[in-house]
Amino acid sequence: MSLNIILFGPPGSGKGTQAQFIVENFSVPQISTGDMLRAAVKSKSPLGLMAKAVMDSGALVSDEIVLGLVKERLLLDDCANGFILDGFPRTIHQADSLIKLLDEMSRTINHVISLEVDSEELVNRLSGRRNCSSCSRGFNVVYDKPKNEGICDSCGASLVQRDDDNEDTVKKRLKVYEDQTASLKSYFSSLGLLRNVSGVGTVSSIKAQICSIIESGGIGDNS
Ligand SMILES: [Zn+2]
Repeated sequence: MSLNIILFGPPGSGKGTQAQFIVENFSVPQISTGDMLRAAVKSKSPLGLMAKAVMDSGALVSDEIVLGLVKERLLLDDCANGFILDGFPRTIHQADSLIKLLDEMSRTINHVISLEVDSEELVNRLSGRRNCSSCSRGFNVVYDKPKNEGICDSCGASLVQRDDDNEDTVKKRLKVYEDQTASLKSYFSSLGLLRNVSGVGTVSSIKAQICSIIESGGIGDNS
């Protein structure tokens, strides 16, 4: 039986960590459309060349091209046991097309896992991030404070904040995510596929929630 998963999670939700965990624990590849597009362009496949022409013109790559790439990717051997889609679908139209595509391949989506973290917590996580200007070690002014404010514990250099981690930018990024996913989540919820997982707590407790959803074959919080 294959394990076909779509993973949703806002910036700062720990989505990358959990995706990596699913990849390792259930032996399925993580498919991100960004990576896939870059790989297709590099391979100069017919779809890759089409995508490159569109991107070079400054336009967005059409759903048809992205779906074509998804299809090519899902037909590769490493997807025989399943896959995790990350960053796709982004619209209801893409979701509809994906379901039709999978249907043609006699496959289906098993779970749409959504990591849920409230926005105040996300703002703290993201706008609290600081990195050492010399060795790049990461800190967080709320959750993982350096011993001396603004100074790296490892090398003593000063800590800096990335431009897109400032509070206003973080709030805008989160709003974009919410606007994009709200309708998708209700779409998948209406199909009985949405599993909400609390992204607050220890990494291992979140992993355990995901495991229980996958291992029980789909019983999760479908709210
Ligand atoms: Zn340092």
